[in-house]
Amino acid sequence: MKICSRSPSRRRDGTVLAMMDAMTSSARIPAPIGDPATAQRPPTDLRAMIIEDETPLADLVGSYLERDGFEVTITADGVDAVALARQVDPDVVVLDLGLPGLDGVEVCRQLRTFSDAYVVMLTARTEEIDTLIGLSVGADDYMSKPFSPRELMARVQAMLRRPRPRTTAPGWPAGALPTRTFGDLSLDVDGREVAVGGTPVALTRTEFDILAALARDPGVVLTRAQLIDAVWGPNWISDEHLVAVHIGHLRRKLGDDATRGRYVRTVRGVGYRMGTGT
Ligand code: CA
Repeated sequence: MKICSRSPSRRRDGTVLAMMDAMTSSARIPAPIGDPATAQRPPTDLRAMIIEDETPLADLVGSYLERDGFEVTITADGVDAVALARQVDPDVVVLDLGLPGLDGVEVCRQLRTFSDAYVVMLTARTEEIDTLIGLSVGADDYMSKPFSPRELMARVQAMLRRPRPRTTAPGWPAGALPTRTFGDLSLDVDGREVAVGGTPVALTRTEFDILAALARDPGVVLTRAQLIDAVWGPNWISDEHLVAVHIGHLRRKLGDDATRGRYVRTVRGVGYRMGTGT
């Protein structure tokens, strides 16, 4: 678990976690079953961000998400959270409403300009949920504290099964587009669906948009700067290293090879282009 925070950062340790389990058990929250080492599920290639300034709660939720195979990043500060989310490109965000720096509503609004991660917002009072729904801040779900981490995990899993609204990938014309294939990889730009060998691959919005940008003109090499323009927009000043990070995630999910990519090829000293799938 990565813990990123300006406030005194503290790694989760067994003692604190054991104490939390005891505390939450008495508050009707069931403790995780079994030894964390043996209870760990296989990695899912999904990333979660927890934006929460109550460290014990963030750690507890983080331990549940890790057990479900998520790579977890935690931050306690709203301003840091937005910058960090650009790098992490999370699939799931657990977002507290009351945060130092920038409150959860504003964090969610800013997140929504570049991410379609599933956002669960945590509130201190049930009454706040109605207000937030009225404000249409863009969260997918809400939970009031105290809550059961198991219920949170059940909702996260349910959300991941829910289809996302369709939006055309940047640079592609709107309207019906045929599915493109590159060897075993099929790319349905309209449906924002990718499959390798017939098996669907869950990509984040950024990963999908990178793949779609490369697939639009398969013979053309795109520089990192061109990919940033295509995916994040021309006004986004970005470290080009960020592109390499997302390409790495994308390749891992596609089962692609960095040295001789079947789908995402590195053109040394220039950038990337779409591979033929062979
Ligand atoms: Ca808080």
